[in-house]
Amino acid sequence: MMYEVDAQNIVVDVDGEWDAEAARVKGGSGAMRASIVGHPLESFMTGDATKMFVRAALDAARVLGETRVLPYRCDVPGERRYCEMVISPLANGHVKVAHRLVLAEAAVPRRQLLKVRAMAGWRCSQCCRVRLTGSDEWLESDDQFDTRLVSDVCQDCAKALFI
Ligand SMILES: [Zn+2]
Repeated sequence: MMYEVDAQNIVVDVDGEWDAEAARVKGGSGAMRASIVGHPLESFMTGDATKMFVRAALDAARVLGETRVLPYRCDVPGERRYCEMVISPLANGHVKVAHRLVLAEAAVPRRQLLKVRAMAGWRCSQCCRVRLTGSDEWLESDDQFDTRLVSDVCQDCAKALFI
């Protein structure tokens, strides 16, 4: 799946896979393209840290003038999905971002993992790890559904911007 933003990070193009994915997930024909093009990229993200992270990633590609690849997780229930964002600068400050799946594997059964349901904390929007209130440690968790977890970006993922 690919999208292109202009110099102000307004989405100016998406590829046909967005509509195909919308149709697959929600049924029907899917009209995702029409609801994405013309809108700020950040309007589709939650959490200030994630917005700042993506803004910095796009600007890094513009400033360096080279394609950058950032790994991230895009898990679905029962499956860990290891993905990559391929960020390529284009003319006039435009940037193309392609998302690709690298590896999918079965999620670890929940009982072996950190229990987060009764607690508050943060989830890294890039690697899906969780940090609980009062802890400095980012831990694996396949529990996707705790809405008390606030979206954040962990230090490891933030540092990946500068490698
Ligand atoms: Zn992370």
